[in-house]
Amino acid sequence: MKRIASFSVDHDKITPGMYISRIDGDITTFDLRTRTPNGGDYMDSRTMHSVEHMLATLLRNGEIGEQVIYFGPMGCRTGFYLLTRDLAPEAVKNALKKALADTVAHKGAVFGATRKECGNYLDLDIDDAKRECAAFLAVLEQQNGGFDYAI
Ligand SMILES: [Zn+2]
Repeated sequence: MKRIASFSVDHDKITPGMYISRIDGDITTFDLRTRTPNGGDYMDSRTMHSVEHMLATLLRNGEIGEQVIYFGPMGCRTGFYLLTRDLAPEAVKNALKKALADTVAHKGAVFGATRKECGNYLDLDIDDAKRECAAFLAVLEQQNGGFDYAI
């Protein structure tokens, strides 16, 4: 088997932040690292699932909505993938910060939290989404410039 590109990054050196994982034509894959890899502190499934519902909805309804290809959680539970088409990283970062802030300010339940809309609709909690999004927003506000893993 060929080792895929994302396994070639030294995960012991990754800190929370927003990184470009790969570029395929006009599609950019961002790694949104909300937790430190192998740091012993992972998202639980409810947090991951709740953030997925909130950010997928808000990003697709926001300014870059038409250019969002995919948003979803990493299996390792340390972050999310965001795929966009034909956008500068700074524009994606700004839209993401808005979606994170809108989640933190959200009134009411998680979007799509009914049996007809979701495959595990009881496993959602807006407070879990808010906690993760507030922490990651603080990370992005500290991150200046570079989106390269540089490792
Ligand atoms: Zn769901």
